[in-house]
Amino acid sequence: MKKLVFSFDENTGFSKDLLGGKGANLAKMTALKIPVPPGFTISTEACRAFLEKNKKFPEGLWKSVLESIKKLEKQTGKKFGSHTNPLLVSVRSGAAISMPGMMDTILNLGLNDETVEALAKKTNNEAFAYDSYRRFIQMFGNVVMGIEHHNFESIINKIKKLSKKTEDTELDGKDWKEVIKRYKKMIESERGASFPQDPFRQLERAIRAVFDSWLIPRAITYRRIHRIFDDLGTAVNVQAMVFGNLGKTSGTGVAFTRNPSTGEKKLFGEFLVNAQGEDVVAGIRTPEDISKLKKEFPDLYSQFIKTAKVLESHFRDMQDLEFTIEDGVLFLLQTRNGKRSAPAALKIAVDMVEEKLINKKEALLRIEPESLCQMLHPHIDENCDKEVIAIGLPASPGAAVGQVVFNADVAHEWAEHGKTVILVRHETSPEDIHGMHASKGILTSCGGMTSHAAVVARGMGTCCVAGATDIVVNSKAKKFTVGKVVVKEGDYITLDGSIGEVRLGECETHPPDLSDDFLEVLSWTDEYGSMYVRTNADTPNDALKGREFGAKGIGLCRTEHMFFNDERILAMREMILSQSVDQREKALAKLLPFQRDDFKGIFEAMDGYPVTIRLLDPPLHEFLPQRNRDVEHMAEEMGMTFEAVKDLVVNLSEVNPMLGHRGCRLMMTYPEIARMQTRAIVEAACEAHKNGVKVFPEIMVPLIGMLSEFKYLKSVIQETVQKVFVEQKISIDIKIGTMIEVPRACLVADEIAEIADFFSFGTNDLTQMTFGVSRDDTAKFFPDYVKNGHLQVDPFQVLDRKGVGRLIAIAVERGRNANPKIKIGICGEHGGEPSSVDYFFHHDFQYVSCSPFRVPIARMAAAQSYLRKVGN
Ligand code: PEP
Ligand code: MG
Repeated sequence: MKKLVFSFDENTGFSKDLLGGKGANLAKMTALKIPVPPGFTISTEACRAFLEKNKKFPEGLWKSVLESIKKLEKQTGKKFGSHTNPLLVSVRSGAAISMPGMMDTILNLGLNDETVEALAKKTNNEAFAYDSYRRFIQMFGNVVMGIEHHNFESIINKIKKLSKKTEDTELDGKDWKEVIKRYKKMIESERGASFPQDPFRQLERAIRAVFDSWLIPRAITYRRIHRIFDDLGTAVNVQAMVFGNLGKTSGTGVAFTRNPSTGEKKLFGEFLVNAQGEDVVAGIRTPEDISKLKKEFPDLYSQFIKTAKVLESHFRDMQDLEFTIEDGVLFLLQTRNGKRSAPAALKIAVDMVEEKLINKKEALLRIEPESLCQMLHPHIDENCDKEVIAIGLPASPGAAVGQVVFNADVAHEWAEHGKTVILVRHETSPEDIHGMHASKGILTSCGGMTSHAAVVARGMGTCCVAGATDIVVNSKAKKFTVGKVVVKEGDYITLDGSIGEVRLGECETHPPDLSDDFLEVLSWTDEYGSMYVRTNADTPNDALKGREFGAKGIGLCRTEHMFFNDERILAMREMILSQSVDQREKALAKLLPFQRDDFKGIFEAMDGYPVTIRLLDPPLHEFLPQRNRDVEHMAEEMGMTFEAVKDLVVNLSEVNPMLGHRGCRLMMTYPEIARMQTRAIVEAACEAHKNGVKVFPEIMVPLIGMLSEFKYLKSVIQETVQKVFVEQKISIDIKIGTMIEVPRACLVADEIAEIADFFSFGTNDLTQMTFGVSRDDTAKFFPDYVKNGHLQVDPFQVLDRKGVGRLIAIAVERGRNANPKIKIGICGEHGGEPSSVDYFFHHDFQYVSCSPFRVPIARMAAAQSYLRKVGN
C-alpha cells in the first residue's frame, strides 16, 4: 500500500510535489531544529486519489491518519478528545505551488462542548477557550458546512450590542458562550443537523473539505490566472495548535526576511498581540509593525531574527514566515519563498548575487518573466494637483486611475464593458479574485501589507493601496467617505500603490523609468542563450522603445499600420478603390514618400540590427470607408460620385475578410503594390546606408500558402531591388523571406524554404486558420471554453502546442532539411509569452519578436529556457 501520510519529523526527501510547499517546508524546518509544532502531512497523491475516486478516502488513508494522531498525542502529551488535556489541531491546505488564501484552513479542531471546558480550566482563561471554540465553529461551519460568514457575523454583532461592547476582544467567556449557543442554533436551522461533537468525525470532515477546496471556484480562478495545472491536488497539513490568543504574553505575526515591496534587506513584518494567525492575514484587525515585537519581547525578537536568517540562508531566498508566540514561547508555523513585487524581485536578485548567496543563473531563474510588466507600469505626473484624500499602505506599486466600484462582480462586469475600475473594499477576501483581476487598482480601508488584498495584488502586479483607515466604506450605499468627501460608485480616483496615496479625480500618468536593478538583471539575460529577441514596430518611435528594452532588431513592421491616420488613409483607400493600374500607380506614388521616410527612420533607430518589413497585408474591412462622410470624402478625392464609390465599397466587401483578398493575394492581383513598397524599402535603405547607418533589410511576404505565390512575388521584389540599386549606384544585402501563417505553408515548407532566406511564423493567423475560428470573434466563445475547462488557456495568448505547435514543428523540420541556412523566427503575439517562447527555443528558433513592452519579458523567458536546458 502506498504511503500517504508523512509526519513532519520523517526525513522523506521534502518533495513539494508530494507534500505540497507548506508540508515540505514544515518537515524541513523540523529537520533544521527550528521550533515547529509537531504534525503530519497527507500527501497530494491522497488528494488526487480522493478526487478521482468519487470522493472516497483512498485505501489505508484513514488508518494512517489515526496512527499519526496517536503519534501526535505522544509528541504533545495531549489526547484528542480528552476531557482534561485535549489535543487541538489545525487543518490546512498546501499545494505544491503556493496559492495564498485560495483554499481553506480550519483552526482549533478538536474542540467540543466538553473539551472547551477542559481548555478553559487548563489555561485558566474562559474567554480564550470559548473564543477559540466559536472561531472553530465559525471556520468549520463555513468551510465544511457551507454556511455563509454573515450568519456568524450578525450573531457576534448582536451580542456586542446587547453587552454594549464594540470590539471582539472585549467580549468575555459569558458573551462567547452565548455566541456559541446561538451559532449552534443557527447551524441547526440552516443545515438541519447539529454541530459535530466527535473530534475524529470533525477531523475526517475537515480533511475532506480541504481536498474539496481544490475545486472551489476561487481556487480554479486562481489556477487559471496563474496557469497552474488542475491535476496537481493539494496536500493537507494537520498540526498541533499553538495559541497566540492566550493573553498579553502571546501573539502572532507574519514577516518577510526582506521587504516584499522594495526588496530592501531588512526584516519586514506585522504583529498582533493576543491574536490568532487568521486575524493578521485576513486583515480583520490592522496589525502593528514588527518593531513592536522588538519592544515588547526583545529576547524573542532576537531569537526570531536568528531563525529568519537561518531559514533565508538555508532556502537561499527571501522567506515569508508565519509565527506564533504562545505564552512567551516562539513557534514557526510556516516558511515559504516570499511573494514579492517585481522591483523587489529584481533588487533581491541583484543583492543576493552581490552577497554571493546565489549566482546570476539562479537569480535569473527566480524572476517570473511576466512580473516584469510591473516595472513597465505607469506612474503619476509629479505636478498632479488632484487632492490627496487618504493615505494607506503602499501595498503594490504602480499607479491606477479608474472608476470606483464596491463589489467584485460589478468590477468584473464594468471591466468587460471596457471601463477601467478601482475596486474599493473594507477588506478583500478570496471570493473577490475575479473582480480584483478585472480591476486596474485595489483600495482597502482595513488590513496590512500582508493582508489578502496586498498579497494578491502584488502577485498580480496590480496597483494596491491597503489599510487606508480614514476611509469609511459603505458598499451597500455604493459610496465611501473620508471626512467630508463622499466618493460614489462611478467617480474617478487615482491610486499610487508605491506610496499609498489616494487622490480624488483622474491624474495624468507616465510610463515608468527603468530601475538600475531592472537593467542590470536584463543585461544578464544576454549572457545566456542562443535565441534573441526582436520587436514588432511600425514606427521609428516604437522601434526606439523596443531597442531601449533590448530588442536586437525588428521582427515585424506591419506597413499597413503606417496608414492608420487621417492624411495617409486617403491615399491608402484610393489605392484600394482604384480600378486601373494607372489609377492605382498614382495612388501608390502618393504612398511611397510616406513609406520611404518611415522606413528610413526605422533603419536609423535600428542601426546595426536587422529590420523585417512586411509587404502590405490589409484585411480590407479595416481600410474601406464605412461612414457616409468618409465615402463622400473619397468621392471628392477621386473625382467620382458618392454612389460610384459606395458601389465600389460594396463590391470590395468580403464575407470573411480575414480569409479574403489580403496579404500576398492582394499583390498577386496587383503586383504594383509590391513594386512600390520594395522601392520605398530599398530607397530608404540606400539613403540610410549612404548616411552611415548599418542597414540589414529583410523583405517579408505575408500569407503565403503556395510556392507559386512566393516564387512570383519574390521575382517582382528582386526585379525592383535591382532597378533601385542601378539607380542608386549601390548594392546592399537584402534578404527576401516569408511569413508562415497559413497551415498549407507549414506542410509545403520544404518547397518554400528552397527559395526563401527566412521564415517568420505568424502565429496569430496560424492559430486562427488551424482552429478554423475567426480571430476577431473568438472573444465570444473561447473565454467560456476556458472557464468551463474545455481549453486550459486561450490559444491566441499561449501557443497551442498540440495543434499549431505541431504544424510549426513540421514546417521547421521540412524547411531546415531543404535549406539548412534558413533563418527562423516568430512574430505573432506568442513571441512575448513566456511558455510559448520556451516552445520556440526548443525548436531552435533564431529569434522571437514581440511588441516593445513585451521585449524584457521575452528576453527573460528566452534566457530561462536556455538555463533550464543547459542547467545552472
Ligand atoms: C500573425 O498573423 O501572427 C501576424 C504577426 O500578423 P498579423 O497579426 O498582422 O496578421
Ligand atoms: Mg498574419
